[in-house]
Amino acid sequence: MTEFSARTRAANLERMRKESFDVLVVGGGIVGAGVARDAACRGFATALVDRGDFASGTSGKTSRLVHGGLRYLRNYRFGLVRRAVRERDLLLRNAPGLVHPLPFLIPVYADHGPGRTALRFGLLLYDLLSKEKTLPRRSWLSAREAREREPRIADRGLAAAGLYYDAWTDDARLVLAIVQDASDAGAIVANHVQVEGLVQNGGRVAGANVRDAIAGESFMVSSRSVVNATGVWLDRFRSDRPTPTIRPTKGIHIFVPRAKIGNRHALALTAKRDGRVVFVLPWRNLALVGTTDTDFRGDPDRVVPDAADVAYLLETVNDAFPDSHLGPDDIVSAYAGLRPLLRKGREEKSESEISRDHAIFEDPDGLLSVTGGKLTTHRAMAEDVGGLLALRLRRTGSSTTRDRPLGPPMAPLDEFTDLGFDEETALHLQGRYAPEQVRRSLGAPSARERILPSTPHPWAEVDIAINEEMAMTLADVLVRRLGLFYEAPDQGVPAAAMVAERMGGVLGWDSQRTEAEVRSYEDLVRAHQGFRVDHGG
Ligand SMILES: Cc1cc2nc3c(=O)[nH]c(=O)nc-3n(C[C@H](O)[C@H](O)[C@H](O)COP(=O)(O)OP(=O)(O)OC[C@H]3O[C@@H](n4cnc5c(N)ncnc54)[C@H](O)[C@@H]3O)c2cc1C
Repeated sequence: MTEFSARTRAANLERMRKESFDVLVVGGGIVGAGVARDAACRGFATALVDRGDFASGTSGKTSRLVHGGLRYLRNYRFGLVRRAVRERDLLLRNAPGLVHPLPFLIPVYADHGPGRTALRFGLLLYDLLSKEKTLPRRSWLSAREAREREPRIADRGLAAAGLYYDAWTDDARLVLAIVQDASDAGAIVANHVQVEGLVQNGGRVAGANVRDAIAGESFMVSSRSVVNATGVWLDRFRSDRPTPTIRPTKGIHIFVPRAKIGNRHALALTAKRDGRVVFVLPWRNLALVGTTDTDFRGDPDRVVPDAADVAYLLETVNDAFPDSHLGPDDIVSAYAGLRPLLRKGREEKSESEISRDHAIFEDPDGLLSVTGGKLTTHRAMAEDVGGLLALRLRRTGSSTTRDRPLGPPMAPLDEFTDLGFDEETALHLQGRYAPEQVRRSLGAPSARERILPSTPHPWAEVDIAINEEMAMTLADVLVRRLGLFYEAPDQGVPAAAMVAERMGGVLGWDSQRTEAEVRSYEDLVRAHQGFRVDHGG
């Protein structure tokens, strides 16, 4: 059994106390996970901690796209798009269970959105930038062909549509797979461990003081180098800086029933209000709609969707699909994330124009900070950091992640139906887990039964989350391992107590802890429903 559990975590914390590392990575979002994986694969003694769960920051709140960023071609960012397209193609090849091709339709209207010629040229270029040709080529559709593919799309002024390919993923599970692969490569990892401050020796960073949020214990981790991959929290460790490194922008998403919109494909719509791109992505029987992009000056620890954000997305979808009549009551769930974008110079730029490039900063005490980029480009960012670490540590060895498989294989569907699951559940499990992993969890009570009748998540998934995915809290399971927070009616609250009971049985929670977990989950859901109250609903 590939154990990756509370026990693994406890053993890892013990090693963090006792051993000395080459690299301590702070932050278990996609960037920190990627850096830990790159470093461990180079043979460096590596430790990784996150103060919350893996992917509990921005990396679990994305549009779930692995993409080159077609829209950056408008700003002539050919190098940026080429790098992202290359990383997309590598992920499609190396992580077939986690990253899947996704056809996109971009409608062209007479009175708004991209012009026909510009879009045709952009799509041609986008195809050319993919040297690997992993995905099918673009095609161009007449208005009639576009309507055949998307019968409920707005008709008035529809001139044509472009069809092109990118890819989708489950962001939190992608991060988890990277963390697990880092661990397989030798990294010592733990979630729910906060770095409270850096430790210095002779003016150089020599480790960090950390606090285990589960046990409430503090200790020191010794390390020859520290990588700060804390996303929008980056500046908290970088002292003596006249201006912040990061200019966060907020982006929200909503999940709504797909039948209400009636979209068959993924679409890149243009918001009439400001010309921005809004994605509508199929997510089983739901549609994921996002995103907004607004300057954020609040507390990054408290970022939730508000009524104005939600209204903008609803308005854009209702314009593009006039029969959908979506309102706030149709929303299954909503979430918000902060982009850790680099502040460049002092000039004010609009949110969508701020650089999506990444950067590595080296402070006089040796602290390396890495930020910017995208979910898609994490590996390339990590490779750059790994190269710099090799120089500083005077170690040889190049990055090996370019051709390294990631995540479970895409096993045939019947390997899951043969385990006794109905087809919908089997489809859900395929890609998320290897069949043998599911088989290992079938001995537990009601393993094959659904947690909630309307979503295809069997109880076996909760056991896998606890035993093989280091889920430590109820939110770890419901938000990031299973996603019931996003997909289930009432955001999974009706199942919260049962799931907490099951977790408590394995993790040794007393009734007080079990109740506290349920309350804390309910609070989280309530905080993400604020937009309904703002609406007067
Ligand atoms: C709305 C939105 C949509 C997006 N959509 C896409 C997309 O579809 N495709 C794409 O490629 N990119 C997308 N991005 C960009 C991408 O999500 C980010 O660039 C990326 O997730 C940033 O990862 P990160 O690891 O730097 O930050 P984070 O994921 O925020 O990770 C930082 C981690 O550091 C931890 N941390 C903070 N302080 C401490 C501490 N003191 N001790 C220990 N840990 C600490 C946090 O808990 C957090 O988990 C999107 C971004 C947003 C906001």
